[in-house]
Amino acid sequence: MKSSFFRNWLEYMASNNNIGIVEKPVSITHEIAAFTKYLDGKNPVLFSNVEGYDIPVVAGIASTREQFADAIGCSLKDMSTKFLDAIDNPVPNQRMNREDAPVQENVVTEDIDLLTMLPIPKFHKKDSGHYITAGLAIVRDPKTGKQNVSIHRLQVSGKNKLGALILPRHTYNFYKYAEERDQPLEIAIVLGVDPILMLASQAIAPLGQDELEIAGAIKGEAVSVVKCTTVDIDVPAYSEIVLEGKILPKVRESEGPFGEFPSYYGPESDKHVITVDAITHRSCPIFQTCLAGSDENLLLGAIPREAGLLRALRNTSPMVKEVHLTRGGKNRFHLVVSMKKRNEGEAKNVIFAAFAGHYDIKQVIIVDEEIDIFNSEQVEWCVATRFQADKDLVVAHGALGSKLDPSTDNGVSAKMGLDCTVPLDADPFDYEVTEIPNMEKIDFEADIQWKAKNKLSSYWKEESMTK
Ligand code: MN
Repeated sequence: MKSSFFRNWLEYMASNNNIGIVEKPVSITHEIAAFTKYLDGKNPVLFSNVEGYDIPVVAGIASTREQFADAIGCSLKDMSTKFLDAIDNPVPNQRMNREDAPVQENVVTEDIDLLTMLPIPKFHKKDSGHYITAGLAIVRDPKTGKQNVSIHRLQVSGKNKLGALILPRHTYNFYKYAEERDQPLEIAIVLGVDPILMLASQAIAPLGQDELEIAGAIKGEAVSVVKCTTVDIDVPAYSEIVLEGKILPKVRESEGPFGEFPSYYGPESDKHVITVDAITHRSCPIFQTCLAGSDENLLLGAIPREAGLLRALRNTSPMVKEVHLTRGGKNRFHLVVSMKKRNEGEAKNVIFAAFAGHYDIKQVIIVDEEIDIFNSEQVEWCVATRFQADKDLVVAHGALGSKLDPSTDNGVSAKMGLDCTVPLDADPFDYEVTEIPNMEKIDFEADIQWKAKNKLSSYWKEESMTK
């Protein structure tokens, strides 16, 4: 298991010369973001000399599908199945003693000043401030005691205060329950975790399922956790830094704007407020960050969602083969699906299932099973040659979309589905793909030479051939 902990994963990447190391002094304002963007989609980056801090920063721990698959220890094609199996068969966490837990080697409860203590970057030009972006937010359901894990953008709003965007999913549910009783909701924010923990936190799992247990299932061994020092929350014991605190009831303060994943700013408004009462950390901790809109950020959403969508679409049609949330669609908005159509009209049902599968889905392209849906040129070829807009296009009006898509009416969005499957009653010859016979039998590398024996003209001047 290459990614059992944050540090193992970094060591593994470094052993293959896969970490970009920046030793020159860098500023937390814009400079960390710039290097991270430059290496995004290629390598993690380690900043060993952050101006004003003793703590190094790591960004982009995985930013390609191959790297995530490598962390999981499976092939690209098996990632969705691996994920679904983990959701179905979670592995309970294993609790460690405080004295054995690296993340509690140091405990700070007084004079907390987030921005003085931690190298928290500022990313985009019009961001309101410094943001924690790669923190696993762990909360406990006040009713069932089950934990939930998610990631939120967290603005540094004061010495021990964070502004949080908490969208209406599981954490929000628990918070509302507490707030109705005038209670704060305890929270732990965990920094410095491996790619599997990051991925598992984004699983589309039912309310009541602890995402750390999904991570345990993917890893094939329980996640070691330790109880926080000031709140009743279990956190990964081998993480780097944990912020312990509370989401305050009935308090909202200014947060944003913040450069978000679609490459536009999420606007300023009054949002939830978290106070931080304790910070625990390993000795010589490493600060983890993630650039919003980077491939790391986008793939963290895409890989778990593809798994969830695959299951949802197969409930509609068991002949759905693969799904792909494309990069150009910000790994959220555009879905390509391959399937073996057995009944006319079936692809359109799959389009409706995809619209219902996640509110972010805005465009769905359905192609036949033999198409490589990870090859955008092949997919476009299907749109070009297997699609007629007057009968193969589905448009849904006024559905819920993403509030972060500026072309929507505050999140109210149209949806578009393109059925690019070949009609079942088509003359097979019309769609016969051209082919050159026996190409696979030729050893081209052996049969082609790159250096002419004499002058090139010797190949067409007969007299020179006889010399
Ligand atoms: Mn959840």
